[in-house]
Amino acid sequence: MDERWQRPRGTQDILPDDAARVEYLRRLVSSVAQLYGYGRIETPVFEQTAVFVDGVGDGTDIVQHERYSFVDAGGVALTLRPEGTAAVARAYVENGLSAWPKPVRLYYWAPMFRRERPQKGRYRQHQQYGFELYGSPEPSADAEVLLVARRLLAGVGLVPQVLVNSLGCEVCRPGYRAALVAYFEKHGPDLCEDCQRRAAANPLRVLDCKQDRTIAQGAPDIADFWCVACRAHQDAVMALVADQGLSVVREPSLVRGLDYYYRTVFEVHDSSLGAQSTVLGGGRYDGLTARVGGAPVPAVGFAGGVERLLMAAGRRIPGEGVPRAYVAQVGPGREAWRVAELLRDAAIPTEVDLMARSLKAQMKEASRRAAVVVLAGGQEWEAGRVAVRGLRDGRESEVPLGGLADVVRTWLDEGQEGE
Ligand code: ATP
Ligand code: MG
Repeated sequence: MDERWQRPRGTQDILPDDAARVEYLRRLVSSVAQLYGYGRIETPVFEQTAVFVDGVGDGTDIVQHERYSFVDAGGVALTLRPEGTAAVARAYVENGLSAWPKPVRLYYWAPMFRRERPQKGRYRQHQQYGFELYGSPEPSADAEVLLVARRLLAGVGLVPQVLVNSLGCEVCRPGYRAALVAYFEKHGPDLCEDCQRRAAANPLRVLDCKQDRTIAQGAPDIADFWCVACRAHQDAVMALVADQGLSVVREPSLVRGLDYYYRTVFEVHDSSLGAQSTVLGGGRYDGLTARVGGAPVPAVGFAGGVERLLMAAGRRIPGEGVPRAYVAQVGPGREAWRVAELLRDAAIPTEVDLMARSLKAQMKEASRRAAVVVLAGGQEWEAGRVAVRGLRDGRESEVPLGGLADVVRTWLDEGQEGE
């Protein structure tokens, strides 16, 4: 095929069956948000570039080489949103949400753009859901977002184990950083090319290296550097969620790829995803609002990839198979049309022939696409009645038009229960 008419590398077309699964997840996310009191926030698909460069940090992968940035005709530097947290922080500051009663609970569902190497589970446009809790410095806030994550994953049948770590604070992180730099200086030649570059500017990120784990495993452990407050915070978060039966393990090499994290970081992985195993990730980012023009506000949250959740959940998420009715036309006339609209008036998904098919062909089509077929027209119609057939169980009945919707609905519901 002519390459010009192919979608851009790393993007996807989502066809109805998968779109129905995505829609299922969207409803799951919004229902969990509602349960915990998170309100939906929508921000623009693009922001001024500074929001991400200053918010996410210019030493990060998504800012350094994964950005889709452009200058518009008015000379404004813009970037397609690569992640949601910095954009929400910008909106929080700009709309004065710090004046709202605390805590402020927000969630989003939005497309993200990163020019990464496309692979299974890794796209250049993907969708993320994310939860952000502003205003509380307490360990209970970290624990709440972890419980939100658990409930969401439970909604698709996943029982997560959460990996957590603490990146410390301005008191204790510098000491750890210095120890890491010294360690990497010793092991410089053994580091991969990317990490040699990172080792001085962003040494924590070396721990996240996907190429070689041995050096990270021998590195100093940040737990030995935590100040009293950071240790107490981490212990409290872990105790609170363990108390709720959530399985958590500390992972010393967990650092996350963005600069704004402070203290808590966490991730959930799923082995069914292969190399792209991160289902969701998050943590605390108390200083972020100050990077995008506001006063510092404590905040914690997480984001997850919709496509990865879909892959991890697999067939546990229903596709397009809504049970529907099909109204076949008996003889000439337009009775089927009338009946179809009548069923739709009763909120029953209904299809009707648009291909001028014979009755026999309509019946065949009905058996492919529907669970119940209604025959409209002919002698019964003259007597004010229509024939109904269950296509899965073979039952038949003749009912007055006025009672049709109730019968079809009952049969569709019963058919679903039996599956
Ligand atoms: P990874 O380690 O897989 O690159 P990440 O640390 O870059 O993930 P975040 O920036 O925290 O991920 O984004 C949140 C979530 O979005 C990830 O946990 C993952 O589920 C999903 N995600 C991130 N990048 C992509 C992508 N390019 N395509 C699809 N999903 C993605
Ligand atoms: Mg990434």
